[in-house]
Amino acid sequence: MDLHLSTAAASDVERAAVDEVLGAPQSGWTGSRERSPTDHRFARGGHDAREQRHLLLPTLHALQARVGWISEGGLNYVSRRLMVPPAEAYGVATFYAMFSTEPRPRSVVHVCDDIACLTAGAQELCRRFEAELGPAGAGSQDTGITWQRSPCLGLCERAPAALVQASGANAHDQAFAPVRDEHVSAFTGGGPWANAETGAGSAPQTKGTRDRERLRVLRRAGAVDPRSLEDYRAHGGYEALRRALELGPEGVVREVKDAKLLGRGGAAFPTGVKWEAVARQPVRPHYFVCNADESEPGTFKDRVVIELDPYSVIEALTIAGYATGSERGYIYLRGEYPLAAERLDHAISETRHRGLLGDDVMGEGFVFDIELRRGAGAYICGEETALFNSLEGKRGEPRNKPPFPVERGLFGKPTGINNVETLVNVLEILRIGGLAYAEIGTPDSTGPRLFCLSGCVERPGLYEVESGITLRDVIDLAGGVREGGSLKAVLLGGAAGSFLTPEDLDLRLTFEDTRAAGLSLGSGVVMVFDESVDLVEIVLRIARFFRDESCGQCVPCRVGTVRQEEALHRLVADRTIGSREDELRLLGEIDRVMTDASICGLGQTAASAVRSAVSRLALFGTGSTS
Ligand code: SF4
Repeated sequence: MDLHLSTAAASDVERAAVDEVLGAPQSGWTGSRERSPTDHRFARGGHDAREQRHLLLPTLHALQARVGWISEGGLNYVSRRLMVPPAEAYGVATFYAMFSTEPRPRSVVHVCDDIACLTAGAQELCRRFEAELGPAGAGSQDTGITWQRSPCLGLCERAPAALVQASGANAHDQAFAPVRDEHVSAFTGGGPWANAETGAGSAPQTKGTRDRERLRVLRRAGAVDPRSLEDYRAHGGYEALRRALELGPEGVVREVKDAKLLGRGGAAFPTGVKWEAVARQPVRPHYFVCNADESEPGTFKDRVVIELDPYSVIEALTIAGYATGSERGYIYLRGEYPLAAERLDHAISETRHRGLLGDDVMGEGFVFDIELRRGAGAYICGEETALFNSLEGKRGEPRNKPPFPVERGLFGKPTGINNVETLVNVLEILRIGGLAYAEIGTPDSTGPRLFCLSGCVERPGLYEVESGITLRDVIDLAGGVREGGSLKAVLLGGAAGSFLTPEDLDLRLTFEDTRAAGLSLGSGVVMVFDESVDLVEIVLRIARFFRDESCGQCVPCRVGTVRQEEALHRLVADRTIGSREDELRLLGEIDRVMTDASICGLGQTAASAVRSAVSRLALFGTGSTS
């Protein structure tokens, strides 16, 4: 391949950052080194540098973290090492929000102004930052710090939140929540930040709030030392993998099918069916991916599970790999979760060191290893095929389906993919048996279910309940509306979900009940709004979110999300084109086009919350978009 590089050269520091990921160039050749069979950072390899394309994101992360931005020289060096055309590498670097191709200060404070944080004073927080540091994006290399508004950082139970993205030799990113005045002073004064609260996720709760005995998926979370494999084993860790090895791959799939486990990421696909389909594919190798890229506003369950019980994710992914005949697994973790990344990284190293990953798992001759990959700030990468593209070192743009991932997924090979909550449920299935698991909940929504309670409730946090609980009950678990306020609305399922009203409180939160009501549980978001919340502001924020996060690949979504936001702003400003009814009709048409003609779920659900705000809350005048 001819690479047409500009003359810009990488600095020594940039070369060192890239070499740390790819290894030093061999002799005069600057392409990637050959793969070492024991080096687990290299999933595929050989002498062809192009086979290392999947390391593009890790190298861009390395540049970003070391120098604070990705220069033309740095990008040239990466392109040469990986044999990626510079235009393509640039296209990837500019796709992800956490990468900058322009110089910027070494510290960037991402201040969340998404919907949960809006209920907790995010606008005032942004004003504080603006007063201290100037407008968003201002700042120079001299000041060393800047700030910018951010979509949801997944810290909704402790809103308002911020993430400091830091660069330098020993710098590391840090998340903060709740952000208080003294933190703002520490940020703007350049630190120290060590006094800021970085708590590791809300304590899991269940009915009765302190009744740990009733917890299943979260029974270890908060009780186990997340940095200790011994402690994990002392709490029953790796008994499920032992059981899986007794059952054999087909036996594991049978248990998961008996349990009637449905995916918890939003699509509710039967997990056992998916695993069986991967296992039966004659093409090799197979891959299994843990989707930990939760980015739906209001969702933080995967982060809490990983931060508090990281070994459970590794054990569950190992079982999934065993059952599907996969020799390699990937955990794709959203880039905004530095603590989760650190804990997973440590846990993977430990399990590998102890023979629970590698060429002879548990001494049973089973081969399986895991790589941790960090996303870089793109909501769309939670869509499974966009995630595969991202893992392969490409822009995170969804693929057309079919072919489905079970046939042609990651690297074009059969691939299983589940989110964190789905996977860790398998541990419980193997602990009590698939049939016993199926007795929990309702016949069509079996097992426990995690809900992310945020917004105007007394005790925001992650709650584990049995499927079948009502919306009213789950809000009561979180202490009800804060400070005795009255309920105005609930957003169920996140930005891609729907607004509900107090009349909907008896809705049972099951797949079948929500489907019958034309709703979706999504990823388990229950965001509560009281009378103090400006719901119009919330809806506008959701519309902006989708406009920003559309990958732009297909017209209905790329244009529709923009037109939707414009129409909403006209309605709010009372500057409608024609009558308000005309604008509502236009919103309805945009809704139908996006829902029917978009390639992926983002475009197909981008109008859902707006639709419900119009039809259920009558926020923009009486009417409907249909
Ligand atoms: Fe991209 Fe939106 Fe089309 Fe999905 S629907 S492929 S996010 S443009």
